[in-house]
Amino acid sequence: MKKLFYIDYPQERIEEHAHRYRCAICKEETTKINGTLEGHLPSCSYRTTLEKAGFEPELVHAHADLHTSDEVD
Ligand SMILES: [Zn+2]
Repeated sequence: MKKLFYIDYPQERIEEHAHRYRCAICKEETTKINGTLEGHLPSCSYRTTLEKAGFEPELVHAHADLHTSDEVD
C-alpha cells in the first residue's frame, strides 16, 4: 500500500519568499515536491529512508483472528 501524500518531511521557509517552503533536507520546494516522494531529490534522506523502508503509512491490520484456539479439555 502506498501513501498518497508525503508531507511529513522537515520543511523550512525560503528566506526570500515569505510564503514558500522547501524540504529542509534536499531543498526542493514544496510546490515541486507536491506531496510525492519523487519530488524530493534522489539523495534526499527523507526520500531514501522511506523508500528503503518500503514505507506503508496506513497499515491496514487485517484482523487475522485465526488463532481461535479454544482448547477446552
Ligand atoms: Zn527532500
